[in-house]
Amino acid sequence: MTWRGHLKKMAVRHTEPVEYELCGALAEDDAPLAISTMLGRRLRIEATGAVRCIHCGGKTRKPYGEGSCFRCFRKLPENDICIVKPELCHFHQADNPCRDPIWGREHCLIDHLLYLAVSSGIKVGITRHTQIPTRWIDQGASAALPLARLPDRLEVGRLEKILARSINDRTHWQAMLRGDGPAVDLEAEAERIRALVPEAYRSYLLEEAEIYRFSYPALRWPEKVRSFNLLSTPVVDGRLEAIRGQYLLFDSGVLNVRRHSGIEIVLSFRAAA
Ligand SMILES: [Zn+2]
Repeated sequence: MTWRGHLKKMAVRHTEPVEYELCGALAEDDAPLAISTMLGRRLRIEATGAVRCIHCGGKTRKPYGEGSCFRCFRKLPENDICIVKPELCHFHQADNPCRDPIWGREHCLIDHLLYLAVSSGIKVGITRHTQIPTRWIDQGASAALPLARLPDRLEVGRLEKILARSINDRTHWQAMLRGDGPAVDLEAEAERIRALVPEAYRSYLLEEAEIYRFSYPALRWPEKVRSFNLLSTPVVDGRLEAIRGQYLLFDSGVLNVRRHSGIEIVLSFRAAA
């Protein structure tokens, strides 16, 4: 049996463990495939050589950013620098306006959360309130705790920048894929971070927040993490052993699905007995 489509970020569901669906980016692609039910099975993924923009559907030689053609990479608000560096949001700057004010109003001028998450280490991050808990699953976090809720992306970005100076939040994706990460007292770390929040932002702190916990489908975790790149090596063949974050973990190496957005693949597998 086969599944054919242009890759994009897998859809996730916060179950125990997390459920994943492989989804096509374009309308012509096959219907979503419940990939987390395929653990233990041998899969073959072959890139067809076709690459299309996940936004406009146009052909591109390689994806820019996360599955864009060059034009969409330059033009779309979700590819602007302020998406990576929210403290640079320029929505209100007359001489450098938002690439798309309607998108900005819907995505940036809405409530955002500042959070702590545990993956290979502990990190402070931000996300739109609508992205909870997807954001943390996409990062492969084992736990997350919201710390503050702010009215827009610029303000939460500024606060994150202030706090980033006092937290060592370097995380390593290879370590994240090798297992459950460090034992961290998330509550204690949250107390420490809360105390660092400047007066001007204290009213945004959440008094009561629940800790979210995540487990991922896994038969085992790899000892070595070898990363596949379908643009240079178009065929991946192996037994699917785990899924975490946006990675498919095979006995032969790992594939970051999100990084391959826009790339068309054919996935082949034997039908379940
Ligand atoms: Zn495009």
